Amino acid sequence: MLKVDNINVFYGAIHAIKGISLEVNEGEIVTLIGANGAGKSTVLKTISGLLRTKTGGINFLGKDITSTLPHKIVERGLAHVPEGRRIFLQMTVQENLEMGAYTRPSGDIEAELEKVYVLFPRLLERRRQVAGTLSGGEQQMLAIGRALMSKPKLLMLDEPSMGLAPILVEQIFTIIQEMNKAGTTVLLVEQNAQMALSIADRAYVLETGSISISGTGRELAESDEIRKAYLGG
Ligand code: ATP
Repeated sequence: MLKVDNINVFYGAIHAIKGISLEVNEGEIVTLIGANGAGKSTVLKTISGLLRTKTGGINFLGKDITSTLPHKIVERGLAHVPEGRRIFLQMTVQENLEMGAYTRPSGDIEAELEKVYVLFPRLLERRRQVAGTLSGGEQQMLAIGRALMSKPKLLMLDEPSMGLAPILVEQIFTIIQEMNKAGTTVLLVEQNAQMALSIADRAYVLETGSISISGTGRELAESDEIRKAYLGG
């Protein structure tokens, strides 16, 4: 479904991504883990067209999207929930969700809203509340719900567990699995390696701009090297 082929990405003179290749197949949950500053967010931003590669290519659903504009990439079925959520704080919950459907025909919106409210009953309760007054966990649910409104085939999530209490992290991860079972392929960036590996079909470990290890979620969760470096021994 998604093929990233040997991409190199720079911030000015800083070589942030050094020849990364990765693949996501339809139906999978794939996770990208690694320390702070390893380049995880940069990889997602590059896939969604917010940053450009210097060399290398990105293919999504059989089409080259290396130079495609971000909104066109969303239209093709690839949505990105950025780190820090970036919801519209002054708008209500429902208005935020409707914004997520801007690439869809307006007739579709009601049906998508229904689905998001089934997945996140908390958002239904609070649909008229201004998003800036939601709790951190609710804002994360809203950010994910908004991305789902574009009916993505592939959903990229950047650290959905960030800043959330353990019980909410569990909820978010359960919802990620539910979305996946309902047919959405997932590429998940996480600091919380343990949780991410526990739900991932496959995983890549990023170290200072390169992939150091890859394997199934289970293989990596059981690897001594990964345990020492990312899972607290
Ligand atoms: P974290 O888990 O802390 O969010 P990350 O793995 O997502 O980290 P990135 O945010 O992708 O890491 O950053 C990769 C590297 O690129 C870091 O060294 C970072 O300082 C650098 N970087 C990121 N954004 C910029 C920018 N706009 N300008 C210059 N350097 C940047």
